[in-house]
Formats: sequence, C-alpha cells, structure tokens
Amino acid sequence: MSKASVAIHKFSSCDGCQLALLNLGEPLLQLAELVDIHHFAEAGVLDENAKVDIAIIEGSISTAHDIARLDKIRENSRYLMSIGACATSGGIQALRNMADTQQWMADIYATPAVIDSLDNSTAIKNHVRVDLELWGCPINQRQILLALRALLFGVLPVDEHDKVCMECKRQQNVCLMVTKNEPCMGPVTRTGCGALCPSVGRDCYGCYGPAEKANTQAMANRLQGLGLVKDELARRFLFINSGADVFHQQGIRLQEND
Ligand code: SF4
Ligand code: SF4
Repeated sequence: MSKASVAIHKFSSCDGCQLALLNLGEPLLQLAELVDIHHFAEAGVLDENAKVDIAIIEGSISTAHDIARLDKIRENSRYLMSIGACATSGGIQALRNMADTQQWMADIYATPAVIDSLDNSTAIKNHVRVDLELWGCPINQRQILLALRALLFGVLPVDEHDKVCMECKRQQNVCLMVTKNEPCMGPVTRTGCGALCPSVGRDCYGCYGPAEKANTQAMANRLQGLGLVKDELARRFLFINSGADVFHQQGIRLQEND
C-alpha cells in the first residue's frame, strides 16, 4: 500500500507553526515513516508543485503571487488544511487591513514602489476551499497530530470549536477572571491550546480565535466592568485574530462606540 503524500507550504508568517511541527520530536519521526513528505522548505524538502494527498498551509495571503501559488496548491491537493492564526484569519499582519496600506508604506519605506504587496492580509479560506482549519498562534502539536492521524485512518478530523473555559475547567484551574479580575478572553476563544495561559496564571488573549457561538458583546461588557477603557477593550478583539469576522466586528463596534 502506498503512503499518503504530504506537502507543507508557507505564505506570510513567522514560521512558528512549521516549527511546532518540526519540534514534534519522536512523533515527527514516526509520522515520517507513515507519510511521504514531498515539500517542507523549513525541513529542507523541496518540490512545491508536487501533487499530494494532504497540503498543510501556514501563513496569510499578502501578494498577487501568493494567490497564484495558492490556486496551484489547491489544484494539486486532495485535502487542504490551513494551520495557525495567519492562515485562518490573516494573522497579526491583518492589523494593516484597518489602515491605509499605501500610506504607511510611503511613511516607512524609502522606495515603497518596489514593495509588492496587496492592501490586505487575508486567510486561506478567502481564496480557495479549505477542508480543515487549525487555529492558534502557534498551532498545538496535539491537534495537528490528531488531524493527520484521522486522515491516515480515512476519517474526517474533529473540528474543535469549544471555548477555552471548558478546557480550563477540566484542568481544575481557579478562574483568573472571577478571583483576580484578569481580563481573560477564555469565554469567547476557541479551545485547542490546552488552556495554556490560564494554567500558568496568565489571562487568555484570544490567540486561537473566536469559539463557536462566542458572545463577544457579553464579553466586552464584562471586560468593561473590570475597568478596561475603550481602546483596551477594542484591542482585546483586534489583535492576533483581528481578521476573524466575530472578533473584527466586535472590535470595530467598540472603536466606533463613544
Ligand atoms: S500563526 Fe503565529 S506562530 Fe503561526 S506562523 Fe503565524 S505568527 Fe507564526
Ligand atoms: S481563567 Fe479564563 S479561561 Fe479559565 S475559566 Fe476563567 S475566564 Fe475561562
């Protein structure tokens, strides 16, 4: 029986999600025995145009060339998975979508004309059909292994869209918002990280994007009750996942609300 073929592609990103894959350690060696990796530039394997069973994509779309590359990748893959905040919502670089890109390029660079960039940084799903999204900055290693394992067994991976609070409670953490008045975004943020920040005493800052049925207005009201002022409130939503619809709309509402 032939092995499943995999390609890992990168667009605009910091490489952190690919590093999460590389840092898998022993499971990566086991994975390498189960699949044929055709393209993974971070690991030194190069064949960008290979036709594969599973394409994994990190990074957001920022240039016209990116769009052409992405179309080709979609054409060459049976199953396409986008990984990380950059690929699922446009990432931290999508903050520029709320500014005048041409203007800030002119303000910052001596020769902005040589910069080839679209005005917006967008998610992979804005351009091609995506079969599964793994959110987070960076992605969680457990999630990617589970997704690949499911695909190798021939079943669809589970889409985890519960809230961080659920995971936090399962770990029996004492709630930071209730006991310490920390502005924790857990009630509206997608699970998957293992409630990493609350487990070490830090409030969640929403890097896994919006959870299913996230009540962002109630969250904003609660944060306001904790003393956050308008700009701080808006920035809780307009941060790593400012391009995710639910967070974006709430952040803009807060910014416009005098
Ligand atoms: S989602 Fe975060 S860790 Fe992953 S590539 Fe983007 S910026 Fe880096
Ligand atoms: S600490 Fe944060 S994630 Fe944990 S239960 Fe409280 S609000 Fe939810």
